[in-house]
Amino acid sequence: MKTLDQIAAELQGYDPQALPAAAVNEFLARLVAPVEQTEEVGIADALGRVLARDVVSPISVPPHDNSAMDGYAFDGAQLASGAALTLRVVGTAFAGKAWQGTVGPGECVKIMTGAIMPAGLDTVVPQEFTRAAGEQAIEIPAGALQRGDNRRFAGEDLMAGRPALRQGECLGPAACGLLASLGLPRATVFRRLRVAYFSTGDEILSLGEPPREGAVYDSNRYTVRGLLARLGCDLIDLGVVRDQPALLEQAFRSAAAQADAIITSGGVSVGEADFTKAMMKQLGDVAFWRIAMRPGRPMAVGRIGSSVLFGLPGNPVAVMVTFLAFVRPALLQMMGCREMAPPPLLRARSQEAIRKKPGRTEYQRGIVSTAPDGSLQVRTTGNQGSGVLSSMVQANGLIVLRHDQGNVAVGDEIDVMMFEGP
Ligand code: AMP
Ligand code: MG
Repeated sequence: MKTLDQIAAELQGYDPQALPAAAVNEFLARLVAPVEQTEEVGIADALGRVLARDVVSPISVPPHDNSAMDGYAFDGAQLASGAALTLRVVGTAFAGKAWQGTVGPGECVKIMTGAIMPAGLDTVVPQEFTRAAGEQAIEIPAGALQRGDNRRFAGEDLMAGRPALRQGECLGPAACGLLASLGLPRATVFRRLRVAYFSTGDEILSLGEPPREGAVYDSNRYTVRGLLARLGCDLIDLGVVRDQPALLEQAFRSAAAQADAIITSGGVSVGEADFTKAMMKQLGDVAFWRIAMRPGRPMAVGRIGSSVLFGLPGNPVAVMVTFLAFVRPALLQMMGCREMAPPPLLRARSQEAIRKKPGRTEYQRGIVSTAPDGSLQVRTTGNQGSGVLSSMVQANGLIVLRHDQGNVAVGDEIDVMMFEGP
C-alpha cells in the first residue's frame, strides 16, 4: 500500500494547493484498490453486483441454427436463378422440437420463430413475403430475399467455451438475463463495499431536532446516502458528529473499524476553526487539497487505518459534485468495476452565454433538452450558489466546463454529465 507522499511523488506537478480535477482522479486511482473477498449470489440478487471472475459459456446460445421469423424454410441455393419460386409445403417445424424429415428441391417446411432449421435448409422466407399457390404450396416473388436470410446461427449470441462476461462487469439487467440464458443460476461477485458516512459541524441539525437560530438541517447525509445506495454499497450511517475531539475520534475510529471507505462532509475548508481536520491528521495519512474547481474546492483525502477517507466540503452542492466527479469513480474501482470512467459525457449546445475562467474545472447545474431540430441543447438552472440544493433537483445533469476552457458563447457545444436513474 503506497503512502500519500509516495503517490504524490509519482504525479507530475502535484500541487495540493491548486490540484486540477483530472489530477484528483489520477491520485485516487492510485490510492484505492478493489476489494478482494468474493461471494456467490443467485442471479435474482445479482443486479448491480460486480463479477469477480470471467464467465465462460458452458453452452452455445442459441444451441442450434434456427429461424428468426415465422415463415417457410428452404434450401436457398434455389434462389440462384433470380426467378420467382414455387415450393411445396411438406411439413411444419415448431419451436421446441426438431422437425424430422427430408426436404428436397422444390419443397419447403413451414417454420415458427425459434424453431430448429431442418437439416439441409439455410433460408427462411417470412410469411408475409409469400403468396399461396394452391392448397399446399407457396410462391416467393423474385428478388424478395437472399440465401441465408432470417436464419440465426448456433452460437451466434454466445459460443460454448468462449468468455461470455468478463471479470469486472457490473451486472445490469441485460447481463443478468445473459447469465440465465447460459443456464447459470449463480454468479461469483465481489462482496459489497462497506461505506461509513457522517456529517460534521456544530450548526448541523439532525432530523427531529427543533430548528435553532444559525443551524441548518443535515441534508448531506441523505444525498450521500442516495448516491451510495445507487452504487449498491452497504451503508453505515454514523449520524451528525459534533465538533468535539472525543466525538470525532470515536466516529472516525468506529468508521475505520467497519468500513472500506469513510465519507464525511464539512469541516475541511481552509478557514475552518474546528477539530475535524486535526482529527483526520491525527488518526490517519491524510492530505488536504484545494482543487482547481468550482464548486467544491476543499477536500481531504487519505487513509485512516485501512479505510479510504473522502473528506468532502460542507456545501450541499459541493458534496454532490465532488462525489460524482471523484468519489464515485474511486468507489467503482474499489468495487472491482472494470469501467471506472464516468459514463460518457453528452455534447449539447449551450442556450446561454456562460462566464468561465480558464484554470479551473467548473460544474454547473444544467437542464438538457431536445431542440426543435432534434439536437441536444442545455441551459443552466440559474442560481449556481454552492448551497442551492433546489437547483440540483431541477437539473438533469452537470455541465462540465473543462480546466482550460474560457467563456462559453450561445450555441457552443459543451459537455454534460447526465444524472442517472429515476
Ligand atoms: P463547511 O465546509 O463546514 O465550512 O460548510 C460549508 C457550508 O455548508 C456551511 O454553510 C454549512 O452550514 C453547510 N453544511 C455543512 N454540512 C452540512 C450538512 N451536513 N447539511 C447541510 N449543510 C451543511
Ligand atoms: Mg463547518
